[in-house]
Amino acid sequence: MTVRREKSSRQARRRGGAPICAVSGKIRYRDGHQAALALKGLRRRAARADLDGAQHSIRVRRKYFCGSCGGWHLTSQPPPTWGNQVAV
Ligand SMILES: [Zn+2]
Repeated sequence: MTVRREKSSRQARRRGGAPICAVSGKIRYRDGHQAALALKGLRRRAARADLDGAQHSIRVRRKYFCGSCGGWHLTSQPPPTWGNQVAV
């Protein structure tokens, strides 16, 4: 019998070679500059979709450094509040 069993490919990579953070499951950018570029591109796409009246789920707000993988990620979370400065 020559049944070829392919291993379920659970590669932690996407097409294009973007590595994925094992902790957050997000695309990992190697530095803040790469993350900023990606953020810019996504914002542009979101703006264009808004203009076209198209639906999208792009809500990225900012980039942040991930201490787990040593890379950068994008998030839709608002920036953390510092000290007692609570935005009302
Ligand atoms: Zn990470």
